[in-house]
Amino acid sequence: MNVDVLKSFKNELPEHVSLVAVSKTKPISDIQLAYDAGHRVFGENRAFELEEKYAQLPNDISWHMVGHLQRNKVKSIAPFVDFIQSADSPRIIKEINKEARKNDRTINILLQIKIAAEDSKYGWDFKELTEYIESGPLSNYHNIQVSGVMGMATFTDDTEQVRSEFKKLKRYYDRLKSLYFSANKFKDISMGMSGDYKIAIEEGSNMIRIGSILFGERV
Ligand SMILES: *Cc1c(COP(=O)(O)O)cnc(C)c1O
Repeated sequence: MNVDVLKSFKNELPEHVSLVAVSKTKPISDIQLAYDAGHRVFGENRAFELEEKYAQLPNDISWHMVGHLQRNKVKSIAPFVDFIQSADSPRIIKEINKEARKNDRTINILLQIKIAAEDSKYGWDFKELTEYIESGPLSNYHNIQVSGVMGMATFTDDTEQVRSEFKKLKRYYDRLKSLYFSANKFKDISMGMSGDYKIAIEEGSNMIRIGSILFGERV
């Protein structure tokens, strides 16, 4: 972690774009350096690693789970996680609400929508998502706040493909907001990683998830 890189990166971001520093595989000491430089929002993609890091770091960090989550892992992060960005199925949303309620908390979730061409990426099919929402379960879930959407573009050098996938996510977000959610609470469009965040911001992202630029390449 090079703190100067973090500071200049943050200085150059438009004001409406928030930064989730994705610290997966990186040591506590790197996160502490970023914390000491004033950063408070970190993302991890594995529940076990998130839990370990939470236990060893200051408790005013806003932790974001950004990776696919199995149902039996929700319990371990529910006491402290701020955002689960990978809410990608009816079962996981139900479980997040259940565990949040046990902890007497509200957990923010982002609906992860599939926008990439690759099969391997998790996320909702948009049509299945609207059918799910229309079938009504969310109105019974009082311990989650549906705060927006998350998506990952295809890993490719074809910037026009990446751009069109981000445009698609922005359109999905706009449609969901106008049809189903209250405008002031459904506010986050989490898209953009180290390789594609500039395009994502041009296409309407207001939350980027950055790992390698800040922490160096992962091995
Ligand atoms: C690892 C990861 C990131 C950050 O990736 P970089 O390319 O290192 O910036 C962002 N989002 C998710 C879901 C990730 O798993």
